[in-house]
Amino acid sequence: MKTSMNWFAAFSLFATLGLLPPISPTYANSTKSQDNVSNPSSEQSMESHWDYMGIDGPEHWGMLTKEYMTCETGNRQSPINISMAKHGQQHNSLVIRYHPSQVYELNNGHTIQVSHASGCEADLNNRTYKLRQFHFHAPSEHHIEGQAFPMEMHFVHQDKKGHILVIAVMMKTDSSMPVLEKLWRWLPKQQGREVSLPLEFSIADILPTATHHYSYSGSLTTPPCSEGVQWILLKEPIHITKEDVEGFRQIIGHNARPIQPRRNRNIEEK
Ligand SMILES: [Zn+2]
Repeated sequence: MKTSMNWFAAFSLFATLGLLPPISPTYANSTKSQDNVSNPSSEQSMESHWDYMGIDGPEHWGMLTKEYMTCETGNRQSPINISMAKHGQQHNSLVIRYHPSQVYELNNGHTIQVSHASGCEADLNNRTYKLRQFHFHAPSEHHIEGQAFPMEMHFVHQDKKGHILVIAVMMKTDSSMPVLEKLWRWLPKQQGREVSLPLEFSIADILPTATHHYSYSGSLTTPPCSEGVQWILLKEPIHITKEDVEGFRQIIGHNARPIQPRRNRNIEEK
């Protein structure tokens, strides 16, 4: 994380992380983007529009506003193609503790973002990170040995000092998982809408059983593209139907940033 981050970048980052308060508990409806909903008066000044295509697309993010400059100038950006991983000399210890919780699904115009009431954490190398939100990309943002997956989930965590840990899970289209069907049943179709699921939801049930993973240091994959993000990519994919991928794409469209240069970064494997 850049220590020179100004208040604007911090606001954008917190919005990206879902640290801003939700709009309202159930069926909130707004035409504003999620990044601004908690502070409508600042809509124009606080957040520059960005997109996955056209003049506001990924090739131009770094030029849209100076707060997004890292998207252009950063040299530890995400996503990347995972290849030639080295077996880590010092194995990561990863413990994930997700508990059943009330969850909220928000269509923020860039993805479907799921937040939860409380109580989900992950420990990486004895540092505890709280789960802030999870969300989806279609197709996957990371590639593994040059191959993209139909979708990718990102579980975004933050520790007390603000360090960010993202646990990524690849999604294959070969069968269905009842836990995802529950989320898909309530996907908010309209941008700015947030839905409270009428049942307690077990986030842990989404995860694969094994925690074998790749790890590397990268960035947020959306503006402001802040670096210093610890990435963990679980090796075991989870499963979703083609129809559900199609359903997501009809609501959100393509939402994957292109692969970024790896440069001289190590990728460790466990
Ligand atoms: Zn993401």
